[in-house]
Formats: sequence, structure tokens, C-alpha cells
Amino acid sequence: MLRIYDTRARQVEQIAPARAMRMYTCGPTVYRHAHVGNLRSQLLSDLIRRVLERQRVRMVVCQNITDVGHLADDSEAGEDKVLMRARAEGRSARDLARYYEDAFKQDTAALNLRPPEHMPRASESIELMIELIAKLIERGHAYALPDGAVYFDATSFPTYGEISGNRLDALRPDTTDPRKHFHADWALWKPSDGELSWDAPWGRGFPGWHIECSAMSLHYLGDRIDLHTAGIDLRFPHHEDERAQSDSAAGHEVVRHWVHGEHLLFDGRKMAKSTGNAVLLSDVTEAGLDPLAVRLAFLEHRYRQQLNLTWDTLHAADRTLRRWRARVAEWSESPSAPMAADHVRRVESAFDDDLDTPAALRVLRELERDESVAPGAKFESFLHLDQVLGLDLAIEIGRSRGTALPPGAAELLSERARAREAGDWAASDRLRESLAAMGVRVSDSPSGQVWG
Ligand SMILES: [Zn+2]
Repeated sequence: MLRIYDTRARQVEQIAPARAMRMYTCGPTVYRHAHVGNLRSQLLSDLIRRVLERQRVRMVVCQNITDVGHLADDSEAGEDKVLMRARAEGRSARDLARYYEDAFKQDTAALNLRPPEHMPRASESIELMIELIAKLIERGHAYALPDGAVYFDATSFPTYGEISGNRLDALRPDTTDPRKHFHADWALWKPSDGELSWDAPWGRGFPGWHIECSAMSLHYLGDRIDLHTAGIDLRFPHHEDERAQSDSAAGHEVVRHWVHGEHLLFDGRKMAKSTGNAVLLSDVTEAGLDPLAVRLAFLEHRYRQQLNLTWDTLHAADRTLRRWRARVAEWSESPSAPMAADHVRRVESAFDDDLDTPAALRVLRELERDESVAPGAKFESFLHLDQVLGLDLAIEIGRSRGTALPPGAAELLSERARAREAGDWAASDRLRESLAAMGVRVSDSPSGQVWG
């Protein structure tokens, strides 16, 4: 079973076996394009999902879309990021948010990130937030001010700070709002009658960013969540506040494992719009590279290592990707053979070992070169492992014969292989139909799927 670094426990922990698991991933604030650093955080939950699904766990994943309430500089005082950008671009907040939400979905699809089961928009979940805030007020964890602002009472949650180590008594007082009972209290609701505002029992306004994730995760996944992932920058205050809210409402620890992905540097500098080195996925494809070269470049490093990406590493990943796809196509012409069991086992145990993807890729390179392994066995092994790698390694098969797979088909074939291994025949049939609609006819042989 998968072992993973739990930020709160500060150690690698075994994920307890279960038939179904629930995972929450903090989603994008849709006021601009996600840069590849943001996308690296998203890959983390996809990898966890793929590894657990290989182990026949049924995953239910929820990822929010923040289209209101995320203030500039993550501070309590700044302006809403979506509103600010909408004004600058001269369009409505709703248009702007939908545009960048679509762009995010395109980018994540291009990286073969499996779509979450639930993707609620904050602006359409206001009722959930109002209910949760009312519950927190009722239980003495939050208080409303006469102007309609509602704050969470940080001192009402004694274990605050367990994820990041930022304990309340050590926090530097922040004096942005003298009406708070305690300097570290944070806003659950902010009074406003602007473009993005709703009526609430304590007055018209909009929700704080932190309460959004609590409300949506509790509603869509319930109050026992196996895994919660995001980039390391959300550890504090976002996740501390989210944990305090969710646990105070549920009366127990809601999230079992908090998992964080490290920062991405580009050319040695933190990727941020403000420093002018935000690289978008479209920059990568415009440079003639396959978007999945980005995925492979990410996999060359473990998720909790800082990764310094450069154009050279992206070009190198692109060359490896093209070579592997060509090899897989070549090997597919050879007589079929069972998988190279030892190599496959070593790759899978690397995945299980806190997602040690660099070790997994080293074994793949070894397998590629190993002349004692039959080409048919290499073919089966690479395709099998691609269920977790997600690199579309089958995409070149048949291209020389003019029977190349149409875009998206390789991913469906890999999903279907997974469904069949899990004995999910309904899903397998459904995927066969989707493939047929793309003009790919699939049949099943003793060594796996055959298509033409
Ligand atoms: Zn969140």
C-alpha cells in the first residue's frame, strides 16, 4: 500500500487500506492562467489517485473552483482577486472566472490529470458556507460584528497550528482590524454590497477563502476525508484555518492525511507573476514541446523536493518522451510476452514509497536498455506502468501503418485496462463504446487489449 509524507504527523505514514477513499484538493483561484508551478501541485493528487486506483481503491475527489473571496496577497484587507482582474480586463467577474476556469480545465486535461468527481464553484456554494458559518457561531467558534462581518475565534481551537507548526502564541500580531477579539482571528464573512455579494443572516457580503474549502469539502466528501492535498504555500494560514473550521464543525479531526507538494523554481527563481517568470503550459507547447514533457519533467523529481525547472530539462524530457513512445510502438510489433515482473514490481514499490517517481523512472530506463528482456515484455510493462505515469506512451502505435490513435484514445485505453484489472466490467464496456465513437475498435486478448 501507498506510504506518503503526512505534513501534520511530520513523517511518512502508511495509508490504511480501504475499498474507497475521499480526497480533497485545493483548486485554482480563477483570475489568471495557472502557471506550470501551480500545475505541479495538481499533479500530486493525480499521482496519489492513480497509485491508489491501481490498488483497486475507488477514489472520490473533490476540487473547488475559487471564483470569489480570495483576496489579493492572501491578506484580510486586500481586494478580491477576481473582481480586481475583471475590472482591469473590462469584463464581468463571472465572464472572467469562467474563462480562466475553462483554461485551467484545458491545462489539466493536457497534463492527463484525471478530472475530479466534484468540482464545485465557490460562487454557487454560498448556501453551504452560510450554513457552516451559522453552525460555527452557534457553537461559539465564531462571532458576528454589527456591520455584518463574521470572524472565527482562533482561541476556540486549541490545537491550531499542528500542520505548519505556527502556534497561536507564537504568531506575530497583525493589526489590520482592531475589532477582532484576538489578532489571529480570520474573516469567515466580509460585509459588501458589490458585484460579488449575497444576503446572509448577519448581513450582505461574501465568504472568506478559507471557509469555502471547509464548506465544500464537508458537503461533497463528508466529515471523514482520507487525504487533503495542495501546494506547500497553502499550509499556512489556509490549511490551518480550514482545519480549525472543519474540525470545530464536525467535533473531530476531519482530515486524516495532509499532503503538500513543494515549490517549483524556474531558472532558479520562484515561479510567480510578480517576478516575471511565470511559465504557462501554452508557452511550452508554443516552444514545440509536448505538454506531457512537463508531466515527465515533474516526475523526474519527487513531489516534495523543490524542483528547478529549466528549458533544458523540458527539452530533455520531451526527447525522452518521444523516444519512449517510438520504442513502445516498435516493441508492439514483436510477439506478445508477459510483463517484466521484476522491473514492474520495482517501479510499483517506488510509487508506493512516498511517490518516489525518480526511482521509478530509473527502473524504466534500466528496463528500456535491458537486452535480456523480450521486446514484447517491455511493451506490456511500459503500457501497464503508464496507467500511473500518464504519459500516453501508446500514442505512436500504428502511426507508421496509418492507424495511429486519435487524441485522447490512449488515455481511454489505459483507463479501460485499469477498469478490467479492477473487474469493473460496466466501466470497461462504457470505455469500449467511447473508443468506438472515436473510431478505435478494441478487443481483448490474453495479453491485454488489442485495437485497430
Ligand atoms: Zn483550500
